[in-house]
Amino acid sequence: MARWLKRGETADVKAQSDRKVRDIVEAALLDIEQRGDTAIRDMSIKFDGWDREDYRLSQSEIDMAVESLSPQERKDIEFAQTQVRNFAQIQRGSMLDVEVETMPGVVLGHRHVPINAAGCYVPGGKYPLLASAHMSVITAKVAGVQRVVTCAPPFQGKPARAIVAAQAMAGADAIYALGGIQAIGAMAIGTESIDPVDILVGPGNAFVAEAKRQLFGRVGIDLFAGPTETLIIADEIGCDPEMAATDILGQVEHGPDSPGVLLTNSEKFALATIAEIERLLQILPTADYARKAWEAFGEVIVADDYAEMVSIADDIASEHVQVMTADPDFFLNNMTNYGALFLGARTNVSFGDKVIGTNHTLPTKKAARYTGGLWVGKFLKTCTYQRVLTDEASTLVGEYCSRLCALEGFAGHGEQANIRVRRFGGRNVPY
Ligand code: NAD
Repeated sequence: MARWLKRGETADVKAQSDRKVRDIVEAALLDIEQRGDTAIRDMSIKFDGWDREDYRLSQSEIDMAVESLSPQERKDIEFAQTQVRNFAQIQRGSMLDVEVETMPGVVLGHRHVPINAAGCYVPGGKYPLLASAHMSVITAKVAGVQRVVTCAPPFQGKPARAIVAAQAMAGADAIYALGGIQAIGAMAIGTESIDPVDILVGPGNAFVAEAKRQLFGRVGIDLFAGPTETLIIADEIGCDPEMAATDILGQVEHGPDSPGVLLTNSEKFALATIAEIERLLQILPTADYARKAWEAFGEVIVADDYAEMVSIADDIASEHVQVMTADPDFFLNNMTNYGALFLGARTNVSFGDKVIGTNHTLPTKKAARYTGGLWVGKFLKTCTYQRVLTDEASTLVGEYCSRLCALEGFAGHGEQANIRVRRFGGRNVPY
């Protein structure tokens, strides 16, 4: 039976903070609905101390941001964007359109049709997360989205130059320096100055994730991608406590609400990792956020064996799952609930977050039970079509359809079938 050497906040505390965020977001979205650009501007001043007549960046502001990059910074961003684009293109190529004759004379098919307009949120309250620009803008463009609008909050009082450069290099059609609920609300609802989009994508803090959740239905959303979570599955053979501790702190530094969990089969390893976390917290420059997150949400679990570890990991359904055990493939083959897996000690979540090419916008708060992360398929609608090629096929399907409509009491539907049986089968089927 598994033992918890350290537990995180209770479900009650989490639910209270969820309710507070939900109420703030609901009021803010209503305000945007009623007052449009005026509400956007008031909220930007209130939450970000950021005031502009027009939050859309001009071409000269965008050019300045790109030119401000050093040659090495530019190369690094280009390298990361190339990896993301390559993998997205390969994934796009794997999504085949289908057309098949399912019975004589009946042809069914589907096509993957790009969504027309996407709103890509790039988070930037605590850190300017430029990598999110590659993840959403490039992926949307590879899918064939025509209009890609992107928003990121100001960073330290002005547009974050590296984010703006990455948004432009990724191919965004319009760039706004707007953050939080006001950005999400403006893109989804539309205002005097921003035309609404069809889908919202990208990660963000609890306010951003909740705003997307509340707007779902009015627009599409990619997934619930809130504050980062990480689960390290490790044993004494797959890695050492310093590496496990580094990988937990590397993710809980995202913010004070980011859970980091260690799941192992060795109490000795668990205790040594806890000690390493304490040591590293003394020297980590971002320890402020990391310590708060570790103290409030950090967990350390010791399980009996790999099978129990899989079952606990599936229950947690973490956004990131890093597996550093003697047999990482056991977890690849048996786990079902995770946003992304990082297999073996040679890779890690940071590679995935920044550069390796898989998408870093991933499900949180157990959404990994029903979805994977952002990918090119989230920008494509799988739309079906059908044709009936012969009179015989129309008559055969029509007779079945007519009887099934009668079972449902649907007279109009039944008549749609009957008229075809009469026309193409030369017979009359009474309703
Ligand atoms: P952010 O851009 O998501 O949020 C900043 C905005 O939040 C600000 O512009 C402000 O308008 C708004 N805000 C802040 N406090 C507010 C309040 N009290 N009321 C209303 N609005 C408020 O940037 P961030 O805060 O740094 O958060 C980024 C988040 O993105 C982190 O939690 C990180 O873990 C997460 N993330 C998730 C994934 C994923 O795939 N799940 C990937 C990367 C990052």
